[in-house]
Amino acid sequence: MTNKNIEKLSSSYLFSQIGKIIKDRKNVIDLSVGDVKLPLPQEVTEAARRAADELCHAETFRGYPPESGYDFFKRAVAMYYSRRNLEVDCDEIFVSDGIKSDMNLFLSVLERGKVLLPSPTYPAYAEANIIRGNEVVYYDVTPPDEVADIVIICSPDNPTGRVMSHDELSAWVEYADSVGAVILFDAAYEAFVRGKDVPRSIFEIEGARKCAVEFCSLSKTAGFTGVRCGYTVVPKECGLNDKWRRIKSCCTNGVSYITQRMAECALTTAYDKVAENTAYYLQNASLLLEALEGGEVTGGKNSPYIWLKCGDSYKEFFKLLDMYGLGVTPGAGFGKGGEEFVRINSFAARDDIIAAADRLKRYMFCK
Ligand code: PLP
Repeated sequence: MTNKNIEKLSSSYLFSQIGKIIKDRKNVIDLSVGDVKLPLPQEVTEAARRAADELCHAETFRGYPPESGYDFFKRAVAMYYSRRNLEVDCDEIFVSDGIKSDMNLFLSVLERGKVLLPSPTYPAYAEANIIRGNEVVYYDVTPPDEVADIVIICSPDNPTGRVMSHDELSAWVEYADSVGAVILFDAAYEAFVRGKDVPRSIFEIEGARKCAVEFCSLSKTAGFTGVRCGYTVVPKECGLNDKWRRIKSCCTNGVSYITQRMAECALTTAYDKVAENTAYYLQNASLLLEALEGGEVTGGKNSPYIWLKCGDSYKEFFKLLDMYGLGVTPGAGFGKGGEEFVRINSFAARDDIIAAADRLKRYMFCK
């Protein structure tokens, strides 16, 4: 017998549908699926080579990794937080192959219940919760009156590029504390935050360690979408640390030694180079924002995503594709609240961004 909830999903995942449509067109600049384009810093690939070499000697060979991660990488993560004046203990860090799978698995620690999702939303959140049989309710920005068990927050947000302020996040921590909910905070895009007053971590908010878990990834932070590495921080105060350790030990055999050495390098010795890549994408975003001047947009600052209000999202998606040779993502694919928007990402080479900006200017002029 299959899980009946699977029948509630749409027939295919948003990004594979869009990818197929765009691939069939010629001369399209593709700013749809949010995948990185810049290569890894050489230091990171050298770390991989060194780690691989260790594996061919009996004295340095390694078998199964510890399921919560190697200490050397957990220390690098703890340092990454301490550079932002946040204290995270190595026992609170769990290494993963990325947020998509880890957040999905984390739902198995929690009892089935009501989950609040941002509207519009990253489709994987909705689908993971539907499969688990959770009741899904959408929120806009502020906490609702009703009581929920789980809240998912993404800041900087995908798809809207919106960044929550300290006050907005504090309201959510107060809400979670008062109703006994758990916040699952998706920090996939924290490395794009450059504003000094913008929170990069939920743990910058007082009281968050009692009610929040933070999911992080090197996918966009360090160009690891293909390498696959992330980490989840589960504070001891939130009461889920031991349970998560137990689930991890029965559901995964961890992340490879080579990958964790690469990730360690990316967050330490190669971090300046890694940050140059996120700065490059942010510069791309500001060129796109310039082209959209006068339009109704969010994001593009402290975020690689731009969310443009344009009217019927599928109609405008096809117009941008067929008349302007530009691939974007129709906002309707991100569910309720996205029907009048398209998402444009800045993960492209500069020449493509300059050409895309020109096409966007013409699109805006003719609207
Ligand atoms: N969370 C958000 C908001 C994302 O946009 C993405 C990828 O696009 C992910 C998680 C997936 O991250 P990972 O590659 O770590 O699985």
